[in-house]
Amino acid sequence: MSYLRYVITSRTAEPTTASPTTAPVFHWIDERLPVVDGAHGVLRAFTTREGGVSEYAWEGMNLGGSAGDRPEHVRRNRASVAAALGVEDDHLLFMDQCHGSSVVAVDGPWVGAAPPADGIVTRRSDLALAVLVADCVPVLLADTAAGVVGAVHAGRPGMMNGIVAEAVSAMRDLGAQQISAAVGPSVCGRCFEVPAEMRAAAAAVSPVSATVSWTGTPAIDVAAGVVDQLTDAGVEVTWVAGCAREDPRLYSYRRDGVTGRFAGVVRLLPGRVS
Ligand SMILES: [Zn+2]
Repeated sequence: MSYLRYVITSRTAEPTTASPTTAPVFHWIDERLPVVDGAHGVLRAFTTREGGVSEYAWEGMNLGGSAGDRPEHVRRNRASVAAALGVEDDHLLFMDQCHGSSVVAVDGPWVGAAPPADGIVTRRSDLALAVLVADCVPVLLADTAAGVVGAVHAGRPGMMNGIVAEAVSAMRDLGAQQISAAVGPSVCGRCFEVPAEMRAAAAAVSPVSATVSWTGTPAIDVAAGVVDQLTDAGVEVTWVAGCAREDPRLYSYRRDGVTGRFAGVVRLLPGRVS
């Protein structure tokens, strides 16, 4: 397995319509880089819990709508992320994540409720795609030459049921060839203790995912498995260092139980015509 591993420094997003104290704080992967003639640009970032208006157990930039937080706070947090990405509020698309292997191709805002899915892909540059996590692995896919992007929710069940391969396949169905992936922070293997049988099952799917916890008990490194699956699929990977459970700037279900969700977000930018 080979992959690039970067540490992305935290930086405040560009000024948005939100007040400075509630603006999202992103780990940027791609920013507004000069766009090569004929190719698209892409914005990819992972939110933190910094910024935002949520309170109590969800304090900060909670973007999860099913975690018990006040809907109005979630709406305002999502609106500030949409503004930072330059899309309309209803053009920042969240999935109804269900630890399945369904990937949906989208070409506009949801009509009604978001569909059950753990991956979304699009060719549209007026949409932004989001994946919510609080320990699971968020994956942001892009092919800037072909103009296709995707967001994937890859937890332990997703690693087991092949959501990565499904998403790569859906990207290719839309014309993608040279796909790159940004893999965001998640609970690390040391912090993800599991029963021995569960580790054995994960090892059967992805041998590199089998590991040990801080106390030497069986554990799973889901992100390592996901990175391995992406690499196997011919995808170039940027893996953001960090552990949700150990980093108080991130939401972690394993650490806190009742808590919010941070997100990976991706938006294709229109290609420049020379
Ligand atoms: Zn950890």
